[in-house]
Amino acid sequence: MSVGVLALQGSFHEHLAALRRLGVKGVEIRKPEQLEHVNALIIPGGESTTMAKLAEYHNLFPALRNFIQMGKPVWGTCAGLIFLANKAVGQKAGGQGLVGGLDCTVHRNFFGSQLQSFEAELSVPELAEKEGGASSFRGIFIRAPAIVEAGPSVQVLADYPISPTNSRDSESIHRENEEDKTQPEEKVIVAVKQGNILGTAFHPELTADTRWHSYFLKMVKEPGAECSSSEGNLDAP
Ligand code: GLN
Repeated sequence: MSVGVLALQGSFHEHLAALRRLGVKGVEIRKPEQLEHVNALIIPGGESTTMAKLAEYHNLFPALRNFIQMGKPVWGTCAGLIFLANKAVGQKAGGQGLVGGLDCTVHRNFFGSQLQSFEAELSVPELAEKEGGASSFRGIFIRAPAIVEAGPSVQVLADYPISPTNSRDSESIHRENEEDKTQPEEKVIVAVKQGNILGTAFHPELTADTRWHSYFLKMVKEPGAECSSSEGNLDAP
């Protein structure tokens, strides 16, 4: 099995190290033709506008879209998640190139600036190794996006409650919470799966916990187990 890691910018070294810990050799991807030799792709966190400019420069967009449409597993973390979304909104959004494929609206820098980066315990039932097993995962959110809208084919793997202390970029939500303390807790989505696409708003590659990488490798080893391409698998009849 050969897993590519988009190596234009951002935390690609950390993803390669996590794959190595699981006995998988990752391949750095910088050119369109390199995608032909890998079974799956990880798009790391970093800065999505810069990543988009570099992808444009290397003419990677058509090859990346084709890779996804072929049903090959692709995982975007943080800026990588933004890259995979069909739509980006929020601070500094707009004008940047997106690969798309994930039927979501992603709000860039949802939780605020670099200074508002944080860690949080998430409940991720999909990561539990057995029925009733441990499902908590400590997510590292660095100038992280959040998914504010998801289409019907998107499976939510983890969400995160919004409160005046953990959402700093969404002033209207702050005000609503202040005005009506009785309203039910609101949540944003921070991890999703849609067919062959996996997206996390946080950075599993910056932790020693390799369960997200194992989860992704399972998508690569068992394509179609519960994953089918959202955009149509070219191999399908
Ligand atoms: N805020 C960054 C962006 O919009 C993403 C941050 C990250 O990947 N840690 O691209």
